[in-house]
Amino acid sequence: DHQVHIIGGGLAGSEAAWQLAEAGVRVKLSEMRGSGVSTPAHHTDGLAELVCSNSFRSDDAESNAVGLLHQEMRTLGSLILAQGDATRVPAGSALAMDRDAFSAGVTAALEAHPNITIVRERIEALPVSGPTIVATGPLTDPLLADAIAAATGKDALAFFDAIAPIVHRDSIDMDIAWFQSRWNKGEGSDYINCPMSKDEYYTFHAELMAAEKTEYKGWEDVPYFEGCMPIEVMAERGIETLRFGPMKGVGLDDPKTGRWPYAVVQLRQDNALGTLWNIVGFQTKLKHGEQVRIFRTIPGLQNAEFARLGGLHRNTFLRSPELLDPELRLKSQPNIRFAGQITGCEGYVESAAVGLLAGRFAAAEVLGTTLAPPPVETALGALLHHITGAAVAETYQPMNVNFGLFPPIEGRTKKADRKRMYTDRARAALKDWLNPPRSPAAAAGS
Ligand code: FAD
Repeated sequence: DHQVHIIGGGLAGSEAAWQLAEAGVRVKLSEMRGSGVSTPAHHTDGLAELVCSNSFRSDDAESNAVGLLHQEMRTLGSLILAQGDATRVPAGSALAMDRDAFSAGVTAALEAHPNITIVRERIEALPVSGPTIVATGPLTDPLLADAIAAATGKDALAFFDAIAPIVHRDSIDMDIAWFQSRWNKGEGSDYINCPMSKDEYYTFHAELMAAEKTEYKGWEDVPYFEGCMPIEVMAERGIETLRFGPMKGVGLDDPKTGRWPYAVVQLRQDNALGTLWNIVGFQTKLKHGEQVRIFRTIPGLQNAEFARLGGLHRNTFLRSPELLDPELRLKSQPNIRFAGQITGCEGYVESAAVGLLAGRFAAAEVLGTTLAPPPVETALGALLHHITGAAVAETYQPMNVNFGLFPPIEGRTKKADRKRMYTDRARAALKDWLNPPRSPAAAAGS
């Protein structure tokens, strides 16, 4: 006799179940682990298993976006953060946990809740009616993934990511780089171009060839599609391949020389705010440290701050900016909400955060109240806004929370003060969202 059905008891599903149950809504939580099936990455039957690292990253709520997200989730009674805090191990300014104690704590809290029924079963089709939250994660079981693809359209559900690095716009040196579309097609400011001389290009190619790459796990087996091949694999095909591919300089006039550069690195706008730009064609399996070192040798990117580094993984995720409404409902079938990494957020904390929001939205719906999405100035709001509309749908790839998703701070500010300004503004916005200031008229009437 449940009111909401949640599919998947990972980071997102567990948090969504808790939020609903705490709001007084009866929940059925279906988790396939424990019924004889698992994913290639999970090792236990525990809910909210941490499949790899045991860290929720920085816990600094003053100057770090994920630390701010922790703080907002604590304010909203997050089970995942409460259990993270309860099972914390020393890790400097990071929040890291004893992974077994953490998962056991989440499982026990959900099992003990009178509004939650946990069923160990694999769900193979999307429910046609009744409020549902799908939180089956990056390794969604294939049968359900097929059902989701059938509901959303085949091209709207990806099974692999192909992540090119993303750079904060204000860290690009525009004395070297310039705005221009190839052959001046489209808007003049569609691309940022970083020029390379012949020597710079050959050195860059040699660095790519020599760089350390991450290894695939046996089950990952990521196929390389033409069009999203790792930059270093393309480099292996021949010294000129990149120069005739993503790094071609033709049709781009370097304002410094008035000529086409020998090679060029292009960046394309990645979010509606224009604060984030991705390096076109630079999806990569290079180790993160190597990416930072080598990509900072690109002229104009010598001081680049990366909002996201590149990667290729097995990762089931939706083209959410197109498919989901601002409350995480599938536009074409609004009884279904999505939560967690399958929405295209990236990371344990982000997945749980989107689970928290999905749970709260579903609770409001069932209880007949309304819940406005959190303001975009908050970490929760910025992440939600990115997923449900602010990101560019065509190039949508998984994303961690970062300050580039927030509306920029207006006016001239010292760089050192900016992070603090983001987090102060976020705290004020969250407070107003939770306790909307009453208008003077309403206050006078009471
Ligand atoms: P999950 O936590 O995976 O939960 C989904 C749940 O749904 C699982 O319990 C699964 O068994 C269940 N399920 C799937 N299909 C069905 C079905 N049909 N019926 C019923 N149940 C189903 N993030 C980090 O922050 N740090 C890391 O170190 C990190 N490492 C990662 C390593 C790997 C190999 C992968 C794949 C991802 C990693 N991530 C990491 C990314 C991401 O944060 C985690 O995958 C996170 O667990 C996602 O949360 P989720 O709730 O969306 O999915």
